[in-house]
Amino acid sequence: MKFSDVIGQNTTKLRLIKTVKENRVSHAQLFLGQEGCGKLALALAYTQFINCTKRNDNDSCGICPSCIKYNKLIHPDLHFIYPTSKTQQHDKPVSTDFVAKWRELIVENNGYISLADWYEKIGIEKKQAIINANDCNNIIKTLSYRSYEADYQVVIIWMVEKLFHAAAPKLLKILEEPPDKTLFLLISENQEQVIKTILSRTQIIKIPGIDDEELTARLVSEFPEPGPVNDAVKISNGNYLEAKQHLLKLEEGELNIQWFTKWMRLCFGNRVADTLDFVNEISKLGRDRQKSFLIYTLRLIRQSLFISTGNDGLVKLNKGESDFIIGKEGKRFYPFINLQNAGLISDEINNSIYHIERNGNASIIFLDISLKLGSLLRIK
Ligand SMILES: [Zn+2]
Repeated sequence: MKFSDVIGQNTTKLRLIKTVKENRVSHAQLFLGQEGCGKLALALAYTQFINCTKRNDNDSCGICPSCIKYNKLIHPDLHFIYPTSKTQQHDKPVSTDFVAKWRELIVENNGYISLADWYEKIGIEKKQAIINANDCNNIIKTLSYRSYEADYQVVIIWMVEKLFHAAAPKLLKILEEPPDKTLFLLISENQEQVIKTILSRTQIIKIPGIDDEELTARLVSEFPEPGPVNDAVKISNGNYLEAKQHLLKLEEGELNIQWFTKWMRLCFGNRVADTLDFVNEISKLGRDRQKSFLIYTLRLIRQSLFISTGNDGLVKLNKGESDFIIGKEGKRFYPFINLQNAGLISDEINNSIYHIERNGNASIIFLDISLKLGSLLRIK
């Protein structure tokens, strides 16, 4: 990750670059800032810059052997500690157990991740994760081998507020007597929750939310429809992850109604060749996306039933949805859903969700339900 990949944060970038140029890189620093401000991205760009063998004035080169290993997060002198929790595979979890998933998540998202993203990645959504004492023991062991490639060994401790109290003395000891040429970058979103003695041993770098203009520029380059970007920036308070989430949801919502409209017409029309094309398109999506589309379909079936049965007060549809479901006389979708078929259709969709969740073959599942919907929609 280069500094140029980090969104905005120019003041902090300059400050960090200066510490390298003036040869006063402090051995323990705490990058403190709200979610989505880019603190992990900055830490990665900073350490890549420090260890780059061909760095220029303001950034790492991105192509030297050190940068290439940094880009993939596989540099042997780059270590990570992050919160973990028990999973089916790991009874006594430490960070290194999850390193493949960690690298994948960071690389995919250019260093912009939230705690929730991480929990989801390792499948512990509902549990509380911590950084435990074994993690600190491991890092002490690892660091006792001398650095063999880079100028600096680097330890990045992500979400240090999750450090388990019993693990604190071990980390403190190593922060007090660090091995030579070792850099600790601690990352946190909440200063109040960081153990005080740890705080007092680090130099704090406060990182603000991303500047609106810089955030807008990045989002416009990532989303095809620039219209909603301004709204997303306004509500996100400099949080790139939140702004992106907002835009993805909009995009997802629009696609959902487009797909639903197309799919229902194809099913009802018994247009087999076109249905196959549609099924192929949907099958290429990830399972989560297929599932969320089916859940969306369930919702619109229920909404249509509300209208058919005269429960208009329960109806909640946005403009695009209402154009298809209520639409104009003769082109309305809701009359196709009634008390006779709504339950049967919902059962079939739920059944498809069940099979998608269990890794069934998506093309077979979607083709099967399409054919069934074709007949169920004709029940009067
Ligand atoms: Zn380089």
